[in-house]
Amino acid sequence: PPVTLPLSAAARRAASISSGRPPTPVPDSNDDEWTPSSWQSKPMQQTVTYPDRTGVETALRKLESLPPLVTPTEIVRLREALAEVADGKAFLLQGGDCAELFDYCTESQIDAKLKLLLQMSLVLIWGGNIPVVRIGRIAGQFAKPRSSATEKLKDGREILSFRGDNVNGFDVDERTPDPGRLVNAYFHSAATINYLRAQLASGFADLHYPFEWTLSHVQDSEAKEAYQKIVDSIHDAIRFMRTIGADKSPSLGSVDLYTSHEGLLLEYEQSLTRLLKHPSTGELKYWNTSAHFLWIGDRTRQLDGAHVEYFRGIQNPIGIKVGPSMKPEELVRLLGIVDSRKEKGRVTLITRYGCDKIEECLPKHIEAVKKTDHKVVWQCDPMHGNTRTATNSSAAYKTRQFSSIISELSSALKIHKDHGSQLGGVHLELTGEAVTECVGGSQGLTDQDLSLNYTSYCDPRLNNKQALEAAFLIANYYRE
Ligand code: PEP
Ligand code: MN
Repeated sequence: PPVTLPLSAAARRAASISSGRPPTPVPDSNDDEWTPSSWQSKPMQQTVTYPDRTGVETALRKLESLPPLVTPTEIVRLREALAEVADGKAFLLQGGDCAELFDYCTESQIDAKLKLLLQMSLVLIWGGNIPVVRIGRIAGQFAKPRSSATEKLKDGREILSFRGDNVNGFDVDERTPDPGRLVNAYFHSAATINYLRAQLASGFADLHYPFEWTLSHVQDSEAKEAYQKIVDSIHDAIRFMRTIGADKSPSLGSVDLYTSHEGLLLEYEQSLTRLLKHPSTGELKYWNTSAHFLWIGDRTRQLDGAHVEYFRGIQNPIGIKVGPSMKPEELVRLLGIVDSRKEKGRVTLITRYGCDKIEECLPKHIEAVKKTDHKVVWQCDPMHGNTRTATNSSAAYKTRQFSSIISELSSALKIHKDHGSQLGGVHLELTGEAVTECVGGSQGLTDQDLSLNYTSYCDPRLNNKQALEAAFLIANYYRE
């Protein structure tokens, strides 16, 4: 079926003109003709082509009528928190699934992820002695860029690749893009964020909540002792705060957790882009109300492309994935486009080179940005440059070596320090479940163990123990 062909820019314009959407006002003359739909005249990567446009238009009209999932007040609060990160006064922890499925919207899976992010942030707060800003890859991480539009099945059939639950189904019979999934994505995001908000407001993050920190899986006795010391220190600190009554302070009883996803499906993002008042200035601005934070993927960051055009006009803090193919001068031009007002913490550069490439790439990028007035957050994604296919098992599993992940992370910490810069945060693919998708770590998982509980439909995630261990290692770096 011809559904994989990307729609040309002209066809796209024609489709948007014929949709009869009312023209959107341009509130800010600095915004150089930006509108929520100005991306439509730019070339786009990773285009989804639906069998018919009628269903898509119906879905988009429905989305346009639905209420925001997040508000400008929350978005501004995150921007202020990220400005603190850019100044080195806070640390950014961002984590969650590579591809979130609608089926992950369950009480137990959301609780497990929330608990893991909170535990990791306690460890990081202890390590760095600074506040931690938490962003989940959650409540909307439903669309995936793919390196190939199709995949070959064992029986020789070639089918469309899985593009995420927002587009098509993983099941081989559900690979045709289905516009009904766009609306379904909204409601799964809404249910997830509703439960997150409810749990946090009900004291889930309260320090009275009994966290268990089982370390029995840690095989290396030296590591186990080091981790136990951290856990004991955290328990001591909590006990001390209880004793002096400091745990009654409202800021200890609740924490912020922000949501994020890759802003890949621009029609979806546009439909949730709203003209709303800035909470402090009262000015009308455009906000993406589908998540607090959105990022541009490494495959869609072309300077003249549709994604960069869309991202430059929204008020949300944004991320840009920066891989080895990014040229330093290209990075500077990109910042000029998406951060023309040079606002501290507006952009988070999410570097993802691979442990063997970071030494070569990161210093050049740091030096190039230093010569500008952009005040960015530097975040290390030690996952995406370190993916390999496990060869010695019957199925070809995509996996990542825990030691490569930690190696890229520690290189990032050191390189930033050596260049008078600061690593502001980490970006991890993780899950609260005991999956076997990444190998290594203190459980000693091997390629042979991958088949035990490999449940990712996209990239391999750190399991709860591996993710916590990554937090311990970062904390130790700061303490040493
Ligand atoms: C991802 O974060 O899942 C992803 C696809 O990353 P990147 O754009 O860096 O490849
Ligand atoms: Mn991924």
